[in-house]
Amino acid sequence: MRYFISFHVLLLMLLSTQPSIGQTIPDQSVTAVLWFQRSAEYRALCYQAYNLAELRAKEYLVNPDMEKQAAVIFDIDETLLDNSPSEALNIIDDKTYSQERWKVWSDLASAAAIPGSLDFCHFLARNDIQVIYVSNRQNTESMATLQNLQKWNFPYADRNHLYLKSDASSKEFRRNVIEKQYNVILLVGDNLSDFDLVFEDRSVNFGYKTVDSLRFELGKKFIILPNPMYGDWTKPLTGERKSWLNTKGK
Ligand SMILES: [Mg+2]
Repeated sequence: MRYFISFHVLLLMLLSTQPSIGQTIPDQSVTAVLWFQRSAEYRALCYQAYNLAELRAKEYLVNPDMEKQAAVIFDIDETLLDNSPSEALNIIDDKTYSQERWKVWSDLASAAAIPGSLDFCHFLARNDIQVIYVSNRQNTESMATLQNLQKWNFPYADRNHLYLKSDASSKEFRRNVIEKQYNVILLVGDNLSDFDLVFEDRSVNFGYKTVDSLRFELGKKFIILPNPMYGDWTKPLTGERKSWLNTKGK
């Protein structure tokens, strides 16, 4: 399926010599999707992130907390599951993101695992560190989401370990609930807002100042995966409240 889609993405790129009004965002997405699907560098960055995550988990295991159950919080989309075929289909169909189009894709429960993610999750499970899934997918997607995770045998893929979006897009409240129960040793995501509330505001200089101030947490407690296709980083580029971005940043 992905080979078929990629071929058409390439074809579309070659043919789209005269972009019209309204095609700007899909056209820009072509390179992002191709890089995600076909660059060895993308795979290398994923392995690098998960190698570092395992190193940090091993450091924790030298002197584990005996009072509180350890856990790692994971985002799902573009952190554990690869939804680039959905992005490619948007390009082919000359559409932008919508909840309806996304739901059709997520119901298929056929997203592949991100390189390195499954091995790391199994490493955690073998060492009695629980995996917690925190995603901005809708609650109506819970069954298909678990089905997709279970398809690849991700550990702890059950309702007790899954925190989907209810009201707020911010994950802060869900993280606070989880941290009452668990010793969260790492957070893994493709969007900085997967880590902490402070990263959500990109209104001043793209949020660089916040990243600079917390740079020593990156690779330490926060493990970030590459995602050039979508995310909060696009907000200051396209306008904060553009409708197609409102519900994105899964
Ligand atoms: Mg994500």
